[in-house]
Amino acid sequence: MSLSQYKTKRNFKKTPEPKPKISKTKKLIFVIHKHHASHLHWDLRLQRNKVLKSWAIPKEPPKVKNVKRLAIQVENHPLEYAKFQGEIKQGYGKGIVKIWDKGTYELKFWNSKKIEFVLHGKKLKGNYVLVKVTYGSKPEKSWLWFKI
Ligand code: MN
Repeated sequence: MSLSQYKTKRNFKKTPEPKPKISKTKKLIFVIHKHHASHLHWDLRLQRNKVLKSWAIPKEPPKVKNVKRLAIQVENHPLEYAKFQGEIKQGYGKGIVKIWDKGTYELKFWNSKKIEFVLHGKKLKGNYVLVKVTYGSKPEKSWLWFKI
């Protein structure tokens, strides 16, 4: 279903044909878990196709502009995880997981270096961006997350 060939074959500044846009009405889900593991953190999860792309955030998610949070990308989670709350009693991620915020989001842009989206949650609303960075203890997985 990708339109990449349609897009690469055309120069939309020159052709009158329509430039494909990401639908603004497409409902994608997001969830933020507050996870009382060995280190308290929040997990931002954005639906991408059939999975939840996930990032661990060591500090409370940004509600206002000019607050930048390090976001460490972690493994994809299944869509069903968006409804999960409970206590992981042992092993990986041991601790209590609670839904901190959830809702839908509009995707504006997504590539390997930058993701722009609009959150429609209870706590978080508005335009956000994730930008790939190369510092921190896990440089290959590090992003910065902030409101714009
Ligand atoms: Mn976690």
